[in-house]
Amino acid sequence: MTGERREGGCLCGAVRYSLPWPLAMAVSCSCRNCQKQSGAPLSLVGVTMRDGLEIGGTLATYVDTAQSGNAVYRQFCPACGSPVLTDTDAARAQGVIFIKGGTLDDATELRPTVHCWTQSAPAWLSFAKGDTIMQRQEGL
Ligand SMILES: [Zn+2]
Ligand SMILES: [Zn+2]
Repeated sequence: MTGERREGGCLCGAVRYSLPWPLAMAVSCSCRNCQKQSGAPLSLVGVTMRDGLEIGGTLATYVDTAQSGNAVYRQFCPACGSPVLTDTDAARAQGVIFIKGGTLDDATELRPTVHCWTQSAPAWLSFAKGDTIMQRQEGL
């Protein structure tokens, strides 16, 4: 497959990656766990094919538990703490992986069109007309 790629990495630069562009999908997740992990009211999550992702450096993994009880593998740079990847068994089965959108070197074109866990989104957040809103959503 030929085509454009984009790069990104953690805050300190110890972890770098490149992936095919555009992403398969971009999603915002306002679940409490993403809020806690990211320190932000929502997490911007890019969905990409895992066989197209090239990653350099070492990520540490925190095994989180979704409300469903399923494991969520939250991968972060152990040096600077940036969350970089999120993985689940379902994502592995589908051949995709989740990237924290804010770690792209240029995230300005990343616009989420699906919004998960809006029941815990901040009250000031509004969503574009036509976007998909999910009050709850497992797996991110
Ligand atoms: Zn780092
Ligand atoms: Zn989440």
